[in-house]
Amino acid sequence: MGPQGPCLQGGHRPLDGPRGLPRSDCRSPQLNAAPADQIRLLDVQALDVRLQQLAHRRRSLPEHAEIESLTKDLTQLRDLLVAAQTEESDTAREQTKAEQDVDQVRQRAARDQKRLDSGAVTSPKDLENLQREIASLAKRQSDLEDVVLEVMERIESVQERVAELTERVSSVQSKIDDATARRDAACEEIDGEVATVTKEREVIAGTIPADLLKLYDKLREQQGGIGAAKLYQRTCQGCRQELAITDINEIRAAAPDTVVRCENCRRILVRTAESGL
Ligand SMILES: [Zn+2]
Repeated sequence: MGPQGPCLQGGHRPLDGPRGLPRSDCRSPQLNAAPADQIRLLDVQALDVRLQQLAHRRRSLPEHAEIESLTKDLTQLRDLLVAAQTEESDTAREQTKAEQDVDQVRQRAARDQKRLDSGAVTSPKDLENLQREIASLAKRQSDLEDVVLEVMERIESVQERVAELTERVSSVQSKIDDATARRDAACEEIDGEVATVTKEREVIAGTIPADLLKLYDKLREQQGGIGAAKLYQRTCQGCRQELAITDINEIRAAAPDTVVRCENCRRILVRTAESGL
C-alpha cells in the first residue's frame, strides 16, 4: 500500500483502471475519519434520503394536478359566463330598442287614428291614404311585437345559461377551495416532518468531520442523492455492484479510519461488521 492507501489506483495500476473509469479522485489526498464518524455518515445519508422522499411527496401530491385541472375548468367556465353575461346585456338592449320601435309605431298609429276620428281630413284621397297608413302601421306594429317576443325568449334562455354557469363556476370554485385546503394541510404536515428531519440531520452532521462531510455532500450531488453507501457482503449498496476480489483485498488491508471509495461508482464505502471482509 502506497501513501495513497486503499485509493485503488495506488500506483501499481495503469491510469485507466480495469473498468476504464476516471480516477481523478485518487489524486486527491487520502481522507481519514474515525469508523464511528463514517457510520454516522450513513445516518446522515438515511436522513438525506428521507428529505428527498419528502420533497418528492410534496411535489407529487395529487392535489397539485387536481387544482391545476379544476383551475383550467374554472377559467373556461368564467369565459363562458362572461360571454353569456355580455349576450344578456346585449339582448336586454335589443329588447329596449324593439319595445321603443313598437311604441313609436303605436304612437304614430294613435295620432293617425285621432286625425281620422277628428273628421279634419275630408278629401277622399287623403282619407284613403290615412286609412292605408293606419293599416300598414298595424301590420308593422304586429311584426315589431313579434320581434319583441322573440328577443324576450332569447333573454330568458341566456338568463338561464348565466344562472347555470354562475352555479357551475361557484361549484368548481368550492372544489378548488377544498383541494387547496387539502393540499395546504398535506404540505404543512410534510413541512413539519422536513423541519424535524433537517434538525436531526444538522445535529448528526455537526458531529462529522468537515472534510468527510464536504466530500459526502459533493458525491451526493453528483450521484443522484447517494454519497455514502454501506459495503454489505462485498457489495456496494450505492451501485449494487459486487466488488472485485482485488478491491476487496485492498479494502481489507486499509486502516479502519481510511475513507474508502467504491471503484465502480466512487461513492464513499462504509465498512461495517456485515461487509463480508
Ligand atoms: Zn458503488
